[in-house]
Amino acid sequence: MSETIQDGRAAAARAAKTYEARAYAAPSASAALAPTTIRRRVPGPRDVQIEVLFCGVCHSDLHQARNEWQNTIPTVYPCVPGHEVLGRVVAVGREVRGFKEGDLAAVGCLVDSCRTCAACRDGEEQFCQGPATFTYNSPDPHLGGVTYGGYSESLVVDEAFVLRVSPALDPAGAAPLLCAGITTYSPLRRWNVGAGQKVGVVGLGGLGHMGVKLARAFGARVVVFTTSPGKAEDAVRLGAHDVVISRDPAALQRQAGSFDFILDTVSAPHDLNAYLALLKRNGTLTLVGAPEAPTPVGAMGLIFGRRRLAGSLIGGIRETQEMLDFCAEHGLTADIELIPISKIDAAFERLVKGDVKYRFVIDMASLK
Ligand code: NAP
Ligand code: ZN
Ligand code: ZN
Repeated sequence: MSETIQDGRAAAARAAKTYEARAYAAPSASAALAPTTIRRRVPGPRDVQIEVLFCGVCHSDLHQARNEWQNTIPTVYPCVPGHEVLGRVVAVGREVRGFKEGDLAAVGCLVDSCRTCAACRDGEEQFCQGPATFTYNSPDPHLGGVTYGGYSESLVVDEAFVLRVSPALDPAGAAPLLCAGITTYSPLRRWNVGAGQKVGVVGLGGLGHMGVKLARAFGARVVVFTTSPGKAEDAVRLGAHDVVISRDPAALQRQAGSFDFILDTVSAPHDLNAYLALLKRNGTLTLVGAPEAPTPVGAMGLIFGRRRLAGSLIGGIRETQEMLDFCAEHGLTADIELIPISKIDAAFERLVKGDVKYRFVIDMASLK
């Protein structure tokens, strides 16, 4: 019998075995998140069952819960968001070697991939042609329907997609590393950000504040661009050498042509041309922020200076582990505001206003 048929049958057999888990879900694009119960698979031989202790609140959770990406990644309801998961292992399958009951474990944006395509072979499962199975709102190969994320009391994930977090790090502050951390670490590494370079970080929210901490740890000179003058002092405390209020055109103009690299983390439509103009010759503006609407880009801003406009999507499992180990070594975690899950809609409203310092993290004990 072929491997695929065997795997398929095993999955089908397991699918019959499920358990109920409490969760918070968006019932529709316009309704508030509300308590619900979902079904999780009973761990198979290679699965790790994790009790969720903390889950970060990414702006992607909001985009997805409200179906703001309906043209590219439409949301299937009910939607249980959450992909910055930090928890404790409560059960492991018989073939699991790397985790045991009681260990700390983490899950980011990915829970599976085909493992055979070129991207998977390169350890970049986020670009799996399969495609990858994302932690929520992806077709669930085990149970049908879609995957449900970390706004839930437990998760069951194949060991190959479970990350290790140092117990030396504050677990609530470490949760946001699983998305905000890797999403900023990966492009900073890919474009070799380091000593002697001037780096801009646009938007000081969850991703932006991790981008500042990491770029500083890599040795770069870091400038924050923010629409919020009230965040300027914090930007410096987080590691920025300089802060520019981005709504002031003269202040932007003073930075023209001076950056090696700019990381744009902004969640809403804004003018990219203004940032392209700040790049040096051969400089790169990389987008990680994913506003729902497209933004016009002028050819001249790219042509003069041979500038580059790029994008970056989270990071693969290997690089995510590398980032977690780097953060453990350097004592880096997110600056967080811990909330009970009942406050999730208020937190979403504050994200819309840019009122975040600098990541909301749900204390999952509040779900009990
Ligand atoms: P966040 O915490 O809400 O931060 C976004 C920041 O952008 C805000 O704090 C604000 O910073 C700035 N901002 C908001 N509205 C703005 C506007 N109209 N004009 C200019 N600046 C504005 O969000 P996040 O969780 O960091 O996520 C940021 C974006 O990245 C989201 O679109 C998210 O979906 C996306 N994302 C992408 C990936 C990926 O793999 N590429 C991964 C995770 C998230 P200031 O107050 O400093 O201006
Ligand atoms: Zn995210
Ligand atoms: Zn693949």
